[in-house]
Amino acid sequence: MSDPKTHPGSRIPVAVLGATGTVGQRFVRLLADHPWFRLEALAASERSAGKCYRDAVTWVQTQPLDERVAQMTVRTCEQILDGRHELVFSALGGDVASEVEREFARRCLVVTNASAHRMAADVPLLVPEVNPDHLDLLAAPAAGARLPAGIIANPNCSTIGLVLALKPLADTIGIDRVSVVTMQAVSGAGLPGVSSYQILDNVIPWIPGEEEKLEVETGKILGRVEGGRIESAALAVSAQCNRVPVVDGHTLCVSVGLRAPAQLDEVREAWRAFRAEPQALGLPSAPPQPTVYLGDDEPPQARLHREFGKGMAVTIGRLRECPVLDARFVALSHNTLRGAAGGAVLAAELVVARYGR
Ligand code: NAP
Repeated sequence: MSDPKTHPGSRIPVAVLGATGTVGQRFVRLLADHPWFRLEALAASERSAGKCYRDAVTWVQTQPLDERVAQMTVRTCEQILDGRHELVFSALGGDVASEVEREFARRCLVVTNASAHRMAADVPLLVPEVNPDHLDLLAAPAAGARLPAGIIANPNCSTIGLVLALKPLADTIGIDRVSVVTMQAVSGAGLPGVSSYQILDNVIPWIPGEEEKLEVETGKILGRVEGGRIESAALAVSAQCNRVPVVDGHTLCVSVGLRAPAQLDEVREAWRAFRAEPQALGLPSAPPQPTVYLGDDEPPQARLHREFGKGMAVTIGRLRECPVLDARFVALSHNTLRGAAGGAVLAAELVVARYGR
């Protein structure tokens, strides 16, 4: 195929499922002027189907809605299951996603944010800088197709920030234990989300299912492909998750046990030096520096640092020794950009760069 980077006419036609939700809106923003992808279809529930997107959506983004997209008609998922889209981004809730995504995956590539298929043996749980080799789980594209069919899952939004902070340490020093306490933004709960009466003047120290996701997904992502399947990393993870009154940006307080004695300088250097395949390939959504160390006295803060690298970089600070494990630090990542739509678009760019040219 001609390169979608240099031939805009050949941009890959894509659809978004769950286009009216918190993550769906992020997809719409990112895809409205994407150099490789052309947004051609929007799907949501029967409540929204038949309306133009402007009327169906409660737009909560700070940038204006693209005029072409605003006028598109929202469909049900079934109505766009017609094989015309080579790539589908899903922002459906888990209960709906499970069956619908498998149905689309018979015809095209689905990149999903839902949790339904994350731990399936045939599904790469992908963070493009961390485990690009897990794409080997997908079969090669069928004859005449630009992209492979199947599902790629984006991990849980907190897991993504965690594994990006851990990967440079896993590669250089080695890690075997992780304790993480999260402070998660309200946008992570979707629309309409938690009520103002529940979250204002409060911290809610329980997000159903979240701790388990961090604990199991981390091992799969940091695992290795062996004989066509993923061998999870030998890593103990303990997670405690809290919902806090922040709009966007999940903050993680992390302690790690290192496999080898290391100076804190080696840890800082591992983050500073970290670059991976998306940076080497110059993918459109790749931040120049995926892990940004701010400084020992400069902790990342949601309002100040979530937009680093256009919301795709993880910011890290306050590295110090840990009297229980070996080292501790604070990390922050944008939950609906790196942790959802931005991460999914980057994953799709990686697939195009690998197979689609
Ligand atoms: P959300 O705001 O609740 O949006 C859900 C979307 O799914 C809406 O577009 C909704 O359409 C659509 N939908 C609901 N029922 C449907 C049905 N029966 N058929 C077709 N579409 C249906 O949720 P969200 O926060 O964007 O999250 C979407 C997914 O991403 C979830 O699986 C979530 O776990 C995951 N995720 C979210 C975040 C985050 O930070 N928010 C991060 C990572 C992963 P209507 O408007 O028509 O109801």
